[in-house]
Order: sequence, then C-alpha cells, then structure tokens
Amino acid sequence: MGFSDVTEKIDASTEDIIELERELVAIPALSPTYEAPPDQTGEAPKVAFLRKYLEQHGFSDLTVIDAPDDRVPGGVRPNLVARVAGKTSKGTTWIMAHTDVVPPGDMDKWTTEPFELKVDGDRLFGRGVEDNHQGIVAGVMAARAIMETGTELPRDLAILFVADEECGSKYGIDYLLENDNPFSPDDVIIVPDGGAADGSEIEVAEKSIMWIEFRVTGEQCHASMPDKGTNALRAGANLIVRLDELNKTLGKADELFAPPTSTFEPTKKEANVPNVNTIPGEDSFCFDCRVLPDYPLADVEAEIEKICQGVAEEFGVEVKHEFIQKEEAATATPMDAPVVGLVRDAVREIHGVEAKAVGIGGGTVAAFLRRKGLPCVVWSTMEETMHGPDENALISNMIKDAKVIAHVALAELAD
Ligand SMILES: [Zn+2]
Repeated sequence: MGFSDVTEKIDASTEDIIELERELVAIPALSPTYEAPPDQTGEAPKVAFLRKYLEQHGFSDLTVIDAPDDRVPGGVRPNLVARVAGKTSKGTTWIMAHTDVVPPGDMDKWTTEPFELKVDGDRLFGRGVEDNHQGIVAGVMAARAIMETGTELPRDLAILFVADEECGSKYGIDYLLENDNPFSPDDVIIVPDGGAADGSEIEVAEKSIMWIEFRVTGEQCHASMPDKGTNALRAGANLIVRLDELNKTLGKADELFAPPTSTFEPTKKEANVPNVNTIPGEDSFCFDCRVLPDYPLADVEAEIEKICQGVAEEFGVEVKHEFIQKEEAATATPMDAPVVGLVRDAVREIHGVEAKAVGIGGGTVAAFLRRKGLPCVVWSTMEETMHGPDENALISNMIKDAKVIAHVALAELAD
C-alpha cells in the first residue's frame, strides 16, 4: 500500500469530514475565561467525544493529559494525544490542533446557527469549522487513511489536541511543555492553524508583541483659562505623533515578514473629560507594537522612554507607560529544519505550488514550542474566516491538508 492508496482514501472522505465537523461544531468547548454565554464548560465534553470517535476508528494509543482548572465542571482541561505507531518513534510527526473555539460574538451578524453545522456545497459553516476543526479533521482523516489502507509509517504519527489555545494556552501547550513534554527536538511538528488560501505560506517566525498603555498627567482647569492648568490631551496628542519616529529609528526591514518592518500603531483611546469647556488633566491611549526579532524589546523600550521624556519636559506633564502585553519573539524555526523541507515537498506535490517560508505579526502557539527549541511550522490551506460571524471552511481544503499531512508523515527523514 502506498501514497496513492492513501490519497484515494482521503479523496473519498467527504461524508466522514462532514459528520466529524457536525459533531465538533455542536460541542462549543469555550474557555471559562469568557463571560458571555453559552456555557463555558471547557474542552472536556469535546475531548470525551473525540476519544470515543478515535477508539471507534481504530486508534488504540490514546493519552489524556489533564490540566487542573477548578473553574470548569470536572475540574480539568484535557489535552489528548492519539499516536499511530510507525517503524520508530524517533522523529515523530506531530499534528497539533486546538479543541477550544471563540464565542460567536455578535449573533445579529450570523446568518447561520454558530453551533449547528451548515453545509453549502464544498463550504461548511459554524463556529470552529476552520479554527481549528479544519486542523483536527485533516489530521484525523490523514491518520485514518494511513491506518485503513495498512500503509506503513516510517515514524510515529501523533495528533495532539490541545486545550486553551484561544486564551493563552496556560492549560494547553504551555501546560504540556512544562509538565509532560512529549516532544523531542528531532520531531516534525506542524500546527495547522493558519496559512494562505493556496497553501503557499509556511510560517516559521513571528514578531515580538508589545501592547503599551500611555498615561499623561497634567492639571485640569477651566478651558477659558488654560494657564491655570496643564493640558494633558495636547501633550498626549504630541506623544502619539512623536512615537511615529519609532518607524524611522527602528526601521529595519526583513522580507520574511509581511509587512517587512516593525509596526507601531496607536489603537485604543480612553475617554477624558465629559465636557467641552474643561482642559483635561489626564490623557490615556494604547499602542500595539509588532517588532522584528532583530530588535530586543529592551532597546525598543529605551527609545520609547526617550520620546516620553521629551514630551514630559516640553509640556510640563508626567508621562507613564505600562505594558499590557510584552512577548519577546521566539527564535525562528531554521530554514533547514526537516519540517520546513517536508512541508514544502508535500505542498509542491499536492498543491502544485512552491511554498515560501514567512514570518507573521505574532501571537501563535508555535512560539511556545520554538522557545523550547522545538522547530515547528504553522501551515494549512485556509481562507482565514476565523473568529468572525459565519465562520466557514472548504471541505476541499481539508482534503488537501489531510493529503499534505499524510505526505509528510510517510516521507523518510534524511539522516
Ligand atoms: Zn486557532
């Protein structure tokens, strides 16, 4: 039995894909971190379903790793590993997908029921169908096709279903890596949770993230006598404009990333005084900064501090800043890591395109793995409708992803 038998099997899996998606969409798996309905019961019911499903389809090596969380019924956030044995466990191929989803958000914007699968030709609708059920389904269909055709795997294939991806991964991959790390550096790790519509992007790196809140303090007074106070809004507005200098002083470009430069964007703005005739004594706003890994965040902070000081002196105000989030980028997955070449070969074979390695703006679970020295890529074939209303995904993309996964899993690793 060879690769063509496996792809034939995957091509015939449309009904199985729809059925699995139907079950998954009906079990929301929302983190207790969310305050909005429906039930924030965590991932346990979904993982219980997946376990039963996998057992019924011949997966015998299943391991559950529970992360304790007393906010959910049952008190645990389960992570599940389904392993299919190959000739060796060295260099295991991992498919890591997450079971949790985000809440539906504004229900008025949905034209379908978020937790009820709708099938429209090749397109499936429902919360989670893409993020990250597509990855779950692709991994499961690839593994099933390999097992059901009796095709021999050169190395183990493991599907890892992680919890808590959408709310920080404390009970998911972070927990696993800190408590029960199942990976080794020579493993091949794919996170099918992002990518281009034609499958041509293999994400290997991300930028550092800095979310900063600036608070400018002057002195409130009546607007008819500005000399009696210090206008914090004028100083704050100047600060926003001067922070644009960061685009020049930290202006390096790296074509791996899109956009190729670091970005420093003013975003959230707090309201200040409620009436027009008062000079505001406080002004507060936020910046979202995505910084190329070339720049240590300490250097960026020093630049920001300099600009804040300049405004403070010139306007006679106090300027403070506080980090809401500060995530130094992990070292990129090396271009010569086996996983990069294996995915590129598979994409060439299945999609007929030459995939390129890319960097993104930050915030994927891959960073947890990269920080532990585990080379991994984020790859899938998707249109990225995730988190929005009417989330949808194509069955044909799931079939392509399953074939790419099977191709990677069945490829020999160079010594
Ligand atoms: Zn996701």
